Amino acid sequence: MIRFGLRAAVIAVMALAVWSGGAAAQSATAQAPFHVVAFWTDKGEPDHIAFAKQAIAFYTELGKKQNFEFSSTLNWDDLNAVRLEDVQVVVWLNDFPHNAAQRAAFEEYMTHGGAWLGFHVSAYNDESTGWPWFVKFLGGAVFYGNNWPPLPALLDVDAPSDPVAKGLAKTVNSPSNEWYIWKPSPRANPDVKVLLTLDPKNYPIGLKDTITAGDLPVVWTNTKFHMIYMNMGHGDKIFDSAEQNRLFENALLWLGGRATP
Ligand code: ZN
Repeated sequence: MIRFGLRAAVIAVMALAVWSGGAAAQSATAQAPFHVVAFWTDKGEPDHIAFAKQAIAFYTELGKKQNFEFSSTLNWDDLNAVRLEDVQVVVWLNDFPHNAAQRAAFEEYMTHGGAWLGFHVSAYNDESTGWPWFVKFLGGAVFYGNNWPPLPALLDVDAPSDPVAKGLAKTVNSPSNEWYIWKPSPRANPDVKVLLTLDPKNYPIGLKDTITAGDLPVVWTNTKFHMIYMNMGHGDKIFDSAEQNRLFENALLWLGGRATP
């Protein structure tokens, strides 16, 4: 009777150890999925559409691996409070909202804890855009110009200890892209943290339109929001670099509230 009781107790303790060990391991690996909606357009610049299609394929695959749900829409009226209710990250691949209702819904979403990842032309703004809130959201960056044709470039990692830069070397060889210049530069804003910058060794960059000098931030966050802007997004070479893909992965996971791998 005593032996049986002791054995039962030992088995119970062992079972408890296995159960609690298993639970701890599970909580580290099985994290709740987060939801991403990517907005894009199939109209306009073919090189921006090519990028958007590849980005959708890239993040759909990554979602299966990293347990997040990635969906995409061509309908910018999906930028509304009801659709965004259970969306943790909004992505703009190659366009931005053009009407007041969509813009108001986005402002509401971002000022109440939403996260945003914007690529390339999604941050384009000039006098005709007429959305001052968005310029502030970007950290004050106003589109000024670009190089042409698209070319590969060496990028400097400004913030190597940032989770979004995890696993990157000091520089990244970025595939062919059309690079934008911003005036004012987002770096002028103390709330902006620049993550990657065009290395000055690239200058002059371009043949028809050439950038010859200047501070050119490429990836940054306005720390007042949970957001990242990346200038990449022109053409079908953007996802050709494993090191740059790592940056794309880190950025989305960080915005989704995950630790970067
Ligand atoms: Zn472009």
